[in-house]
Amino acid sequence: MVNTTTIGVLALQGDVREHVIALSRCGVAAVPVKTLKQLESVQGLVLPGGESTTIMKLASQYELVEPVKERIRSGFPVFGSCAGMILLADHIEGGTDTQETFGGISAVVQRNAFGRQAESFESLVRLADDTDLFTGVFIRAPLVTSLGNQVKVISTIEGGAYAGRIVGIEQENLMATAFHPELTSDLRVHHRFVDLVNRSQR
Ligand code: GLN
Repeated sequence: MVNTTTIGVLALQGDVREHVIALSRCGVAAVPVKTLKQLESVQGLVLPGGESTTIMKLASQYELVEPVKERIRSGFPVFGSCAGMILLADHIEGGTDTQETFGGISAVVQRNAFGRQAESFESLVRLADDTDLFTGVFIRAPLVTSLGNQVKVISTIEGGAYAGRIVGIEQENLMATAFHPELTSDLRVHHRFVDLVNRSQR
């Protein structure tokens, strides 16, 4: 059977292109999503890295906030990296006073958690169900500070000062990483999301 899965990347701000390329390399069709019509044509959605406040502001202007929330509630697969992780968290720390999220993952995520001096770094990350480590790129990254029972940890920092910190989570149809798998050529995280989307199609 031909695989007709199409995954959208919310294309309001952030590193959209990199996600489109990574998804295409996983063998699925990947398209930028800016309108409700485009959202209606995809079977899964990626929220890219970027600036969570800006993405949310634009999502509101483009009237995409409610449609995305509805999908999240109804089991539609969504993967968020970095700013995207913030957007999927039910609660955030260190946000602006009025900052909202799409929510869906029962977690508290702290924005810009690694502080100024470490705004950008690479660290080895341990992925769930895998023995080979992953190189995580962290750019003013968030950190998961508290988790609901229904949330599964899918990545932790392997060594160094932040060893053991939770940087990847999954809750049913939703998946989020604090790092940017779209900025490395290792496709394992994107493959995990493609599998999630394919499973939801069955
Ligand atoms: N610090 C950014 C935010 O709060 C996220 C950074 C990123 O996506 N690289 O949205």
